[in-house]
Amino acid sequence: MRLLIIGAGFAGMYAALSAARLRDIKGASPDDLEIALVAPEPTLVVRPRLYEPKPETLTAPLLDVLEAIDVDYIQGSAETVNTEARTMQITTAKGTKKTLSYDRLVVATGSRLFRPNIPGLAEHGFSVDSLDDAIALDQHLHGLADRPAANGRDTVVVAGGGFTGIEAATGLPARLRDILGQSAKTRVIIVERNSAIAPGMGEGARPHIEDALRKLGVETRLGAGVASLDKSGVTLSTGEHIETETVVWAAGIRAAPLTAQIPAERDNFGRLLVDRDLRVPGVAGIFATGDAARAACDNDGNYALMSCQHATRMGAFAGNNAAAELLGAPTRPYHQKAYVTCLDLGEAGALFTRGWERTVEMVGDIAKKTKQEINTVWIYPPKAERAAALASADPERVTDL
Ligand SMILES: Cc1cc2nc3c(=O)[nH]c(=O)nc-3n(C[C@H](O)[C@H](O)[C@H](O)COP(=O)(O)OP(=O)(O)OC[C@H]3O[C@@H](n4cnc5c(N)ncnc54)[C@H](O)[C@@H]3O)c2cc1C
Repeated sequence: MRLLIIGAGFAGMYAALSAARLRDIKGASPDDLEIALVAPEPTLVVRPRLYEPKPETLTAPLLDVLEAIDVDYIQGSAETVNTEARTMQITTAKGTKKTLSYDRLVVATGSRLFRPNIPGLAEHGFSVDSLDDAIALDQHLHGLADRPAANGRDTVVVAGGGFTGIEAATGLPARLRDILGQSAKTRVIIVERNSAIAPGMGEGARPHIEDALRKLGVETRLGAGVASLDKSGVTLSTGEHIETETVVWAAGIRAAPLTAQIPAERDNFGRLLVDRDLRVPGVAGIFATGDAARAACDNDGNYALMSCQHATRMGAFAGNNAAAELLGAPTRPYHQKAYVTCLDLGEAGALFTRGWERTVEMVGDIAKKTKQEINTVWIYPPKAERAAALASADPERVTDL
C-alpha cells in the first residue's frame, strides 16, 4: 500500500510525520505501508519569515527527518492526477516524466501569491511570497545603494494592508536604513483598498497597528488600489502617482494550481472543500490539507485560514487519517479551537491576539519575543530523532496554542 503526500510545506511535513507516527503505533512496517513525499526540493521554506532580511537563510532541510521516520522523498513536481486510475504524473528536475500510483493521496501543495492583470505588475512588482521572490526583493533593495538617491529610490510602496503587507512594511524602515545609510530619507507607504488598515484584524487590534505605523513613519493610502506600475513608480486608483523603484505586491493569495486537477468543489481561493476528516468528498482516496483545503475548524462556523498555524495541524490530521484508512484504524475529525495571531511590527514590536474575535493579549516587546520564538523555533521541523519526531506529530497536540 502506498500513501503519497504532495508538498513539503508545513502541511506536507506534518502529514508525513503523523502518517509515519500512526504506522509506528499500529506496528506496521514501511513494507506494509509505504509513505512518500513528493516535492521539488526536500526543504521547508519558512514562508512566514520571508519578509525578513537574508531570505536565502530561511529554509530548513527535511531529508534527515524524513529518513529518520522511514518516509521516502521523491524529487519532482506533480503535474497531473488521474483520480480514476489513482496515479499521478510528476516531472523531475531533469525534465523526466514519471507516473506514481497511490492508494491514498494527500494534496498539500499550499498556496501562491495572486498577481492580478494590472499593467506593469509582472515587470515591476516584487513580493515576499516564495523564496525566489524574497531573494529577488532583497537583492533589489541592496542594489538601490548603488543608484542615485533620486527618483523615489528611498521609497517603497507595499500594495496590500493585510498581515503580509503590514509585516513587510513595518520591517522596511530599518531594513532600508541598514542598506542606504542611517541618514537616508526613507519612505514606506502601504496602499490598501479597504477604508481601514488590517481589514481582518478588527476594531480592538487595529489601534495598536495604527500606532505602530505612526511610530515608524509608515504612511498609508486607504480606499485606494494600485492602477498601474512603470519604471517611474506606481499610479493609484485615486490618480496619485508615487515615485518609487520598489513596489511590493502583498494583496491576495490562491491555492497552488494542482488543486484544479482534482474533480471536486473549490472555493474562491481555489481551495478544495473537504469534510471533517479532510477527505475530498466524492473523489476516492484523496485528502487535501493546509492552504490547499477549506476545512471547518469547529461547529461554530469558523474555517481554517491560509496560515501556518492551521496548515501544521491540518497536515497532522490529514496524514493521520489517510494512513488510518489504509491501516484499518479510526479516523479523527480535524478540529482547531485555539486561534492566535502574532503580527510583527518591526521596530515597534509585535501584536499578539487570541481567539477569532482577536482579543489583544500582548503588544510591544513582549509580543515581539513571542513572535521571535514562533519564527525561530516553533515552526521549524522537529529534530531528526525518530521517537521525538513521531511524538511531535500527535494530531491532537500539534499547534495546540
Ligand atoms: C510573508 C509571509 C508571512 C506569513 N506570515 C504568517 C504568519 O505570521 N502566521 C501564519 O500562520 N502564517 C503566515 N503565512 C502563511 C503561511 O506561510 C502559509 O499559510 C503556509 O506556508 C501554508 O502551508 P502549506 O504547507 O499549506 O503550504 P506551503 O508552505 O505553501 O507549501 C507548499 C509545498 O507544496 C509544494 N508544491 C506546490 N505545488 C506542487 C506540485 N505541483 N508538486 C509538488 N510539490 C508542490 C511547494 O513546493 C511547497 O513545498 C505567511 C506567508 C507569507 C508569504
